[in-house]
Amino acid sequence: MIHTASLKTLAAQLAQKKISSVELATLFLDRIERYNPTLNAFITVDRDKALAAARQADAQLGAGETAPLLGIPLAHKDIFCTRGLRTTCGSKMLANFVAPYDAHVVERLREAGMVMLGKCNMDEFAMGSSNETSYFGPVKNPWDLTRVPGGSSGGSAAAIAARLVPAATGTDTGGSIRQPAALCGLTGLKPTYGVVSRYGMIAFASSLDQGGPMAASAEDCALLLNAMAGFDARDSTSLERAPEDYTRELERPLDGLKIGLPKEFFGAGMDDGVRAAVEEALAEYRRLGAETIEVSLPNSGLSVPAYYVLAPAEASSNLARYDGVRYGHRAAEYRDLIDMYEKTRAEGFGAEVKRRILIGTYVLSHGYYDAYYLKAQQVRRLIAADFAEAFKQCDVLMGPTTPSAAFRFGEKSADPVAMYLSDIYTIAVNLAGLPGLSIPCGFAGGLPVGLQIIGPWFAEARMLNVAHRYQQATDWHRRLPEEFA
Ligand code: GLN
Repeated sequence: MIHTASLKTLAAQLAQKKISSVELATLFLDRIERYNPTLNAFITVDRDKALAAARQADAQLGAGETAPLLGIPLAHKDIFCTRGLRTTCGSKMLANFVAPYDAHVVERLREAGMVMLGKCNMDEFAMGSSNETSYFGPVKNPWDLTRVPGGSSGGSAAAIAARLVPAATGTDTGGSIRQPAALCGLTGLKPTYGVVSRYGMIAFASSLDQGGPMAASAEDCALLLNAMAGFDARDSTSLERAPEDYTRELERPLDGLKIGLPKEFFGAGMDDGVRAAVEEALAEYRRLGAETIEVSLPNSGLSVPAYYVLAPAEASSNLARYDGVRYGHRAAEYRDLIDMYEKTRAEGFGAEVKRRILIGTYVLSHGYYDAYYLKAQQVRRLIAADFAEAFKQCDVLMGPTTPSAAFRFGEKSADPVAMYLSDIYTIAVNLAGLPGLSIPCGFAGGLPVGLQIIGPWFAEARMLNVAHRYQQATDWHRRLPEEFA
């Protein structure tokens, strides 16, 4: 079945003219039309633009051009600016915003020949873990329509899980690629901070935000990262490094691989079903020749509190630009300039975004800066040092991606702290700027479970290898929710 094929298979079928890019785009657009009313994974779909891009890819293929992603459909999280196609960031504030330029990532994937089908739903300004904060309504988890897909890249995750598209982009500030990948049974990679340009990626917390690939398998993610990564002078934190082929280590055997298991990731708070699936995955790794050792990240318990000082602080500053003056929503009636600002922001932002702006403004205010913001920065340093220490003893770290499988709508939305804790295993990775990967490793109560693989800075190729060898030995990543098979 073509809609379940890997990117490599799709590329081969296109190159051999067994299918055209227009046929492929049409097939997925038809699936979107059929299933999106149920899932709400897309905010915007542009059939005409997609088919025009597919025709262009077919012309290139017809001229004998070959490239690993040429002619393959994809979707972008609606946080990436797309020239001429609206970019909402899941907010009423930007519901009418059409960017005059493409994000670096969008540009790179287009140059690689990929065909954009549309823009995926997400939590408002990427603040959330369940997609319930989106102005455009919640996304449903294809594995169980009464449950959340995770967030904030929940639209991208649900779209791939139901195979409405073979691949998508996501962004991860505290877990937003890995957590929805885990809850929807996908592979998702948050690269090392600075590997993927943030240009044109709407800012939430700039020192933590990082774009990355989401797809069925590690091999697919490696191919996507090859196109997404790379230096961009328009992002001051983009790293100037020699280009890498992230597929180069995929087949390397795992003999002698040292896997560190942070004891803090296996303590109380993890569901039994998640624990069982993760333990079974670790047993599989041992069969594949790896060795597991216990390590410790003593300060990791401070990561959620530190994050909820730093991320809101940066968000309060980044979101100051939405004032109704230059673009986005503007209140219809107002007395004067201040009233216009106030009404615009009161109307344009949802409750979670307002909560973050209030917290961020508070922790940055004079008199509290040292007690909260500065303290959180110091904790961040300690967390990064813990990882550096752990990586002296092992090649990668493993543990659960999330403490539980997909939860029900409304289950955590009334309790922000319960919601924030769904990122308890992912946030430390962002604070340290490290790469993190989530792969499907089984089911708990019929719902997918994610295994998190964390590597040292720039170890993406090795991590993808570690994931790929496991995916050759197991078939969790090929399972599909029945209704969408
Ligand atoms: N769930 C976390 C938050 O709400 C992380 C979100 C993200 O990674 N964008 O901030």
